[in-house]
Amino acid sequence: MIPTPTTDMNTTQQTQPKTDLLTLTLPQLQEWLAARGEAAFRAKQIYSWIYQQLVDNFAAMSNLPLKLRQRLEEEACIGPLVVRSEMSSKDDRTRKILLELADGKLIESVLMLYPPLGESSARATVCVSSQAGCAFGCTFCATGQMGFDRHLQSGEIIAQVLHFARELRATPWSAAGLPGSTPIDHITNIVLMGMGEPLHNYDNVLQALRILNSAAGFNLGARHMTVSTVGLVPAIRKLSQEQLQVNLAISLHAPTNEARSQTMPVNRKYPLEELLAACQDYITATRRQVTFEYVLLAGVNDTPERAQQLAELLAPLKQFAHVNCIPVNATSAGYRPPGPDAIRAFRNILFERGISNSVRAERGDDIAAACGQLRTRFENRRKAIPVV
Ligand code: SAH
Ligand code: SF4
Repeated sequence: MIPTPTTDMNTTQQTQPKTDLLTLTLPQLQEWLAARGEAAFRAKQIYSWIYQQLVDNFAAMSNLPLKLRQRLEEEACIGPLVVRSEMSSKDDRTRKILLELADGKLIESVLMLYPPLGESSARATVCVSSQAGCAFGCTFCATGQMGFDRHLQSGEIIAQVLHFARELRATPWSAAGLPGSTPIDHITNIVLMGMGEPLHNYDNVLQALRILNSAAGFNLGARHMTVSTVGLVPAIRKLSQEQLQVNLAISLHAPTNEARSQTMPVNRKYPLEELLAACQDYITATRRQVTFEYVLLAGVNDTPERAQQLAELLAPLKQFAHVNCIPVNATSAGYRPPGPDAIRAFRNILFERGISNSVRAERGDDIAAACGQLRTRFENRRKAIPVV
């Protein structure tokens, strides 16, 4: 089924809504062209222009007949997004943009650049939003505090990736202070860790991942994509049945129901027993490791007791569980990250009990990197400007 057309905000005089081609798989684009009497092979050409040449307009598609280009101009668009604000961290390893969608909703996307390290080559990871706002209200999350606006369409998810892909293609990045390293000119990873809950917007997210994964499309390996979820049990079970080898990350953040329900209201609907059972079944079905994200909140969930409980909770998953400790990015909610000693002590307890774990390097603090913070700042500033 071809998704419903969107309106192109660049052409406000529009009477017919335009189809955003970024919402279409290759067979859907072939169908769309066939319905207009165009040859199917044109779809591959258009796909190549969009996803390999990274063009953002039909005029550039020089191997298409002029008439077809004009028709596309009238009836289609390529993920129109307006960049409302752009920020780079001082070291230029984190770039954040605030995007305005066709209906005026605001979302954030982040590009994180990693220099080559030992054996591993440089990485360019896009952190993508899946919804405008979020319905799940986690107390430490700036997006959760703004409430839910709407799901993003698959094209709006893909457009975020293409924005940064074009930027890197035009100006490859090399880490300052690493003169010999090869500049990186393409996106290597995608994480659905921006605004919103990806599994709440299941169909559009899966459509976007399939298009980004397809050889004729963006051609990014599924193993380079990560879906992060607050823990929607039925959707995790559904995902385990898809033939798509994406990585799964579970936002755990507390090892007991009592503690988890205090910061994550979703726990009352899907408590830990059900969540862990779904993870176990996911592992059995996919034989893939699951990452458990654990936002460290000083004095709230970072005690040795919590570390022990966490190790016990995950012990049955054995080597298939990995914990990613994330010192919280301070938001208006007043949480603070623990100091290095507390983080080390927490991790050591996990190590001693055989739970593999890592800590996410803090980055981009100077540009409000935690999800939802840039939009919050932007909207507060907008409110502060009186409208006459
Ligand atoms: N809704 C999904 C994905 C988006 S949030 C989810 O919750 O998993 C991506 C990750 O950022 C989640 O693990 C989330 O808990 C974490 N996060 C939210 N607010 C944060 C903050 N203030 N500091 C650090 N991580 C945060
Ligand atoms: Fe939503 Fe994820 Fe933020 Fe929770 S952490 S409010 S699920 S975006």
